[in-house]
Amino acid sequence: KVVCVTGAGGFIASWIVKLLLERGYTVRGTLRDPADPKKTEHLHALEGSAERLQLFKADLLDEGSFDAIVEGCDCVFHTASPFYNNPKDPQVELIDPAVKGTLNVLGSCKKAASVKRVILTSSMAAVVFTEKPLSPDVVVDETSYSIPELCEKAKEWYVLSKTLAEQAAWKFSKDNGIDLVTINPAVVIGPLLQPTLNTSAQIILYLIRSPVYLNYSFGWVNVKDVALAHVLAFETPSASGRYGMVDKVIHFSEVVKIIKDMYPSLPVPEKCVDDELFAPTYQVSRERITSLGVELTPFETSLKETIECLKEKGFVSF
Ligand code: NDP
Repeated sequence: KVVCVTGAGGFIASWIVKLLLERGYTVRGTLRDPADPKKTEHLHALEGSAERLQLFKADLLDEGSFDAIVEGCDCVFHTASPFYNNPKDPQVELIDPAVKGTLNVLGSCKKAASVKRVILTSSMAAVVFTEKPLSPDVVVDETSYSIPELCEKAKEWYVLSKTLAEQAAWKFSKDNGIDLVTINPAVVIGPLLQPTLNTSAQIILYLIRSPVYLNYSFGWVNVKDVALAHVLAFETPSASGRYGMVDKVIHFSEVVKIIKDMYPSLPVPEKCVDDELFAPTYQVSRERITSLGVELTPFETSLKETIECLKEKGFVSF
């Protein structure tokens, strides 16, 4: 079978490409610059890539640039979307590529009769920003949708970009008869295949290097589980709707404690910016993701894999 992965050189996408090649698929990967070795060398090193991986140039904002690539594919995994904080112009840098880009890719899928299903990499960011108060005994599930106005008020621009992109994807898919499934992971960590640091790996580095830290609470999930969920969402005919993916929601102070216990020689920050907790923790239902056949890796294992990889690649030394 032939499939397409958008933004193929990214952190999550690279693991999806690796798994697809291992399972015998022919993969068409899209990148903005297929000649950039930082984005492609690790893909060319994957087993099966010489025979079954082709890379194509496509930009999310270039209308129709995915048409010819998607034509003939059985499935499209749309992962490409900018992920970073503090943009100068949120609309141009994050929201337009996320929303218009998703509609651009779906528009190409609509034209390609071969495409049976589209798997969109959404986020827990598109799930949890609601008016419902969160606390350790609240269980969040896939029925909740983040409210754009709340994201905007909080200036959570990346969260807003993912929320609007997923909303637009569901509307377009319903209106145009596209079989869409979304994967909604929390912060994704684990080993990096690519040589550069993506935003979620930077968070772990921040918790190792920064002198003090803000005590946010985040949900965490392993990149290999996220890749498997994408592939199973295509391979399982009954898969549908959204699949939230969170092993555990914990505060940064807890993460720092675990790092300290695991690696006593690492100079982790001694204190938070203040003792106030930035946000409460909560639980996330794993019923749907388990039903898809994905067992979530424990956070501690994912954290260890991340730090070992950061060490191997020279981002930390101890
Ligand atoms: P990366 O930064 O590693 O990858 C993002 C990819 O998006 C890049 O490969 C980049 O492609 C592509 N991209 C960005 N802007 C454009 C554009 N204008 N046109 C074409 N491609 C573009 O991030 P991740 O792997 O972490 O994220 C991948 C997906 O997963 C995103 O949709 C993100 O929102 C989502 N996600 C990530 C989480 C995480 O913690 N990492 C958590 C939840 C969801 P190029 O190579 O061409 O530059």
